Amino acid sequence: MSARVAVRTRGGALTVDGLTVGYGGAPVLHDVCFALAPGEVVALLGANGAGKTTLLRALAGLVPAAAGGIDLDGRDLRGLRTEARARRGVALVPEGQSVVAELTVDENLRLGALWRHRGAARERAVAGMYEMFEPLARRRTSAGHQLSGGERQMLALGRALVADPVLLALDEPSLGLAPLVVAHLMSTLRDASARRGLTVLLAEQNVTSALSIADRGVVLDLGRVVADAPAADLAADDTLRHAYLGF
Ligand code: ATP
Repeated sequence: MSARVAVRTRGGALTVDGLTVGYGGAPVLHDVCFALAPGEVVALLGANGAGKTTLLRALAGLVPAAAGGIDLDGRDLRGLRTEARARRGVALVPEGQSVVAELTVDENLRLGALWRHRGAARERAVAGMYEMFEPLARRRTSAGHQLSGGERQMLALGRALVADPVLLALDEPSLGLAPLVVAHLMSTLRDASARRGLTVLLAEQNVTSALSIADRGVVLDLGRVVADAPAADLAADDTLRHAYLGF
């Protein structure tokens, strides 16, 4: 990392306690409890429909919690709207939607930085992204729709990181990408987290890739936590892998 760009270490602790969420009264998440230490990378795993997206949306305030608490760095997020949670440092990279196709790479990054940084600080924040993600620097005048799938995900990551989040939540970033591109994306994510001490919750169906960079994994089944363990233990647990992770 260049010494010119000052990057803060600012991952926060996340505690999810008894979270229950549903759509139209039908519960999808039931009494979900887990915690992330500052700087930890945790894979959120589970089959189709297990509730991963719902959990990320609940953290970001996009679906209301029927019960339970969400605490980031000692601050209760309950009752806060999506914008207020973003200001507290919650960044959600939703599945396949977080790049504006008509805007250039540079404009996308500036948009991500807009509400968080002004003037020279904004320039430094955007420059920091180009130092972290060199392929984006080479594509800074290309429009979002001209990027490859891997470049688009990298830009989505840059757009989230440029706002200096405390918690980065990603929904299936590997979806639709070729295996080599996924491997590169995962190592980029791990590296970005390590550089910033960033806390990351990574929802993935690509279990092997997610566990390859995660410290721990939390496994959901039908909206309930069925395992919460170090990544290496989950990868080695044949019974659990067959029952809930499909490999
Ligand atoms: P996938 O990997 O397929 O996205 P997931 O683990 O992210 O699955 P969710 O998308 O959170 O799971 O879905 C959990 C359950 O909630 C599913 O049964 C799904 O049908 C239901 N669900 C999701 N979104 C809605 C919605 N907007 N309205 C009603 N039910 C929904």
